[in-house]
Amino acid sequence: MALLLQQVNLFGRAYNKLDLSNDNVTFYESGSEAYEALRKGFNKRINRYPKLIALCSNTQGVVEAIQYAAKNNLPVTVKSGGHCMEGFSCNDGGMVINLSLLNKLSMPDSKTLSVEPACLLKTIYETLIPKAKYLPGGSCQSVAIGGLALGGGYGLMSRNYGLTCDSLLEATMVTASGKVVNTKDDPELLWALKGGGNGNFGVVTQMKFKVQKAPASMISFKFRSKNTTVENAVETCRQWFERSATLPLTCFSAFIFNGRTTYILLTNTGKNNASVNEFIDYFKAGSTKFSKGNPLPLGRALKAYYGESRPVTFKNASAGLYKDFTEIESVIGMVFALVKKKPGILYQVNTLGGVINSPEQEAASAFPHRQCAYFSELQAYWDSEQATQGFLDHFELIQQQFTAAGIRAQYRNYPDINFTNWGQLYYGKNLDRLLALKRRYDPGNTFSGPQTLTI
Ligand SMILES: Cc1cc2nc3c(=O)[nH]c(=O)nc-3n(C[C@H](O)[C@H](O)[C@H](O)COP(=O)(O)OP(=O)(O)OC[C@H]3O[C@@H](n4cnc5c(N)ncnc54)[C@H](O)[C@@H]3O)c2cc1C
Repeated sequence: MALLLQQVNLFGRAYNKLDLSNDNVTFYESGSEAYEALRKGFNKRINRYPKLIALCSNTQGVVEAIQYAAKNNLPVTVKSGGHCMEGFSCNDGGMVINLSLLNKLSMPDSKTLSVEPACLLKTIYETLIPKAKYLPGGSCQSVAIGGLALGGGYGLMSRNYGLTCDSLLEATMVTASGKVVNTKDDPELLWALKGGGNGNFGVVTQMKFKVQKAPASMISFKFRSKNTTVENAVETCRQWFERSATLPLTCFSAFIFNGRTTYILLTNTGKNNASVNEFIDYFKAGSTKFSKGNPLPLGRALKAYYGESRPVTFKNASAGLYKDFTEIESVIGMVFALVKKKPGILYQVNTLGGVINSPEQEAASAFPHRQCAYFSELQAYWDSEQATQGFLDHFELIQQQFTAAGIRAQYRNYPDINFTNWGQLYYGKNLDRLLALKRRYDPGNTFSGPQTLTI
């Protein structure tokens, strides 16, 4: 590779920068501290080593990086916030376009947010909420808007406000040939980027979202039952499905089982109606610990769900989207027995539905799982490297139960490297339409890597 220059970097240390760098893009190769820092993602379990990292300062930098990759036959992956749970925003031996400097946001008017892809949710919430505005997104503070919106994006208020991608009005993208395009000129591209856009067609460098009036406050209720048997956990889960189905759209709820304890979370940004009160009374009666928070101003309430911002070692993946409990009834006992066998693993199911399930949103976006009112996930956390394989094997065993139950819908933002028919699972009926767009925007499969659309 070309000559190296010594400089003082953003991180305040000496680093090596390739001499083909300029104001638009800085290229790094291995052996430098900056390369190491930029290479890493949120999941410490996953380490990939690209040949080159292109740290772009603007859209022109992305164009130049892609042109360089094309000349040098380097496959390209794109990284905004680096939170992909399977590390798909990095690669081995190719080029990673790192967008972490593209993190700015502005409000051209009171109804619109213009934002660069690496802007973190925390920044977005803390900008919008003091203005009484809201963009529905996930709860984790350090997830970036780029990956979140391109794969869908659900959170505590999605039942009332839609998925993040449903608010996407416009995007600028650099294609595989280095051309800058805007979705204003191609509604089909806008459709695809709303749920089908993670790393498939090009590099999104600018996004425009509609913002909505924020709810003033949110209240949280937590129900915990310790030392739960598998049978009791299954019954609590069944009841949770039944009772969460009638909650108003202002509510979000999650059911969690970690092998010993069941947790239920309920949040509400509206008034508690009769079905909310019945839900609370029912689960409170069966809980060993119940907590009712105070209604908090939205910004403060969301902070309680910001989560960890520093990288952790884990596996977290979609364990199916489904319409109701009957879809998992045949296997949930076995799933919970397996969860119980391996402390460190937990099963969680979250409410979707509401406005996510609207025919207009279904027609306007590539996110295909609108009829599913529930999204479930498996999570596993551990510390020692020696424990990794045991957790991964056990995780896979549990995933096989859902496959056996006939679960055929999975969420692209919670990928599992072991999904073999991932195209169908993530994109369902929209897969062929997305592949047609891939043919137009990336016929040479420049954007490639695990679980990236290829033709
Ligand atoms: C702790 C944690 C909490 C989470 N909570 C939620 C949640 O509440 N709700 C929810 O819906 N999801 C949640 N997620 C999942 C999250 O939505 C995805 O991991 C998301 O893809 C992360 O986006 P990113 O830009 O941070 O990640 P990255 O790893 O940078 O990107 C993720 C994927 O999108 C592609 N991509 C990123 N930017 C671009 C771009 N500009 N152009 C083209 N392709 C791009 C990447 O190539 C990669 O395939 C969570 C993830 C974690 C780790």
